[in-house]
Amino acid sequence: MSSHSKKTPYQGRRRTFGYFCCRSCKRTWNSGNSWANRGQKCKRCWRMIYPHIQRPLKRPTKKEKKPHLMDLCGMCEELEYSCRLLTQQPRRQRQ
Ligand SMILES: [Zn+2]
Ligand SMILES: [Zn+2]
Repeated sequence: MSSHSKKTPYQGRRRTFGYFCCRSCKRTWNSGNSWANRGQKCKRCWRMIYPHIQRPLKRPTKKEKKPHLMDLCGMCEELEYSCRLLTQQPRRQRQ
């Protein structure tokens, strides 16, 4: 078993648009705050679900209308603040 197994299709550092599907209750949802190797919890089962599809976000011009459910988001849980506050591109010097 590898401890570095990929949990999500996307392995980069940016925010993506993720598609989630809970196998237990068949609930599906999507989120514009989906990160590499981070899941979101199913609202019903409270299980951590990893996205099966992740698409690059288009330009972050339009704001999301629905509030981000921090309680359900694995990234927010780890950060202990909203992952929405992270910039689209991590502040880094170009290499
Ligand atoms: Zn579920
Ligand atoms: Zn989040």
